[in-house]
Amino acid sequence: MSSEKPLHEGLFSWPSASPTLLGSRCMDCGEHAFPSQDSCRACSRQNMAPADLGSEGTLWTWTIQSFMPKTPYHTDETPETFAPYGVGYVELASGLKVESRLRENTPDKLQIGMPMKLEIIPMRKDDNGADLVTFQFCSAEELG
Ligand SMILES: [Zn+2]
Repeated sequence: MSSEKPLHEGLFSWPSASPTLLGSRCMDCGEHAFPSQDSCRACSRQNMAPADLGSEGTLWTWTIQSFMPKTPYHTDETPETFAPYGVGYVELASGLKVESRLRENTPDKLQIGMPMKLEIIPMRKDDNGADLVTFQFCSAEELG
């Protein structure tokens, strides 16, 4: 566990047995943001507070990505081992839509409106041998 490091700090609670997405919320108008922002995109004020965005949502839209992700989102895959992956927007309880990699990577497993759950996945090793982890969403039913 201790050798696992988030690819980007501050996007989700880690280490955690039940990680959640971390963002911010405008104390004036209630607008949520992910990743967290210093000023509100709705009212432009700078009265933002950290907000736990939870780990559940519904699939708002999705696509299948069939080319390898670019730095810094690359993995240990090579062009020979690369498999297409799903990308989508997940609508959280707050109404905020978050762009995320999806575990499911075939159209027959993805349906707009399906319940989704956050999971933390290993991406690759860094230069010191630590496992870099990032978040993705998967079908809430498959996670069990
Ligand atoms: Zn606001």
